[in-house]
Order: sequence, then C-alpha cells, then structure tokens
Amino acid sequence: MAVINCPSCKKKISDKAIKCSHCGLSLQEIDSDKIANLNNVSRINQAQRLMTYSFIAMLLFCGGFLLMFWDNVEQGTWQHNLALASTVIGFILYIIVRIQLLFFKRQK
Ligand SMILES: [Zn+2]
Repeated sequence: MAVINCPSCKKKISDKAIKCSHCGLSLQEIDSDKIANLNNVSRINQAQRLMTYSFIAMLLFCGGFLLMFWDNVEQGTWQHNLALASTVIGFILYIIVRIQLLFFKRQK
C-alpha cells in the first residue's frame, strides 16, 4: 500500500482508497483518467512507429531511385532490378503507411 496525494485537496491518502477521506473525491474517476492517459501514450507510440515506417519507406524509395541512376548500374543487371524493386516497394510501403496515418488521425 502506498500513500499518494489527493489530486483535489493534496492531502495524503492511501492509493487503495475508493474515495478521498478528506474531500470525498472519488478516486475511481481518477483511475479512468489514468487509463485514458495510458491510451494516449500508446497512441503516441503507435503514431511514432508509423512515422518510423514512413521514414524507412522513404529511404527505400530514395535509395532505390538513386541507385537506378547510378553511373555503373546498367539496365537489366541485378543491381538495376534491385534498385527498381527497392523503389517500387518503398513507394508502395510509403503509400500504405500514409493511409494508415490518415485513418489513425481520424480515430480521435
Ligand atoms: Zn481529497
């Protein structure tokens, strides 16, 4: 059992208490606030993960694109095919992640 400060009156109360014994504030409501807060944190983490994916996709796209126009890479070679595949995969991945981000932002 830990002692916490009441969010309303700032007096010391048990974290197991349902109500503050000083001001009568229901601590169960605070719990739902905490849950909402945790949901918020996980949403931020998810958004960050999506941003990381979009960054990786962009790197794939740009890397492949640059490689395709590299001096030593000729059309028909496996390097060129790899560059082309990287560009296409990066582009598709980027579109998918952007769509996911769009839906994610609409969820609010
Ligand atoms: Zn209180």
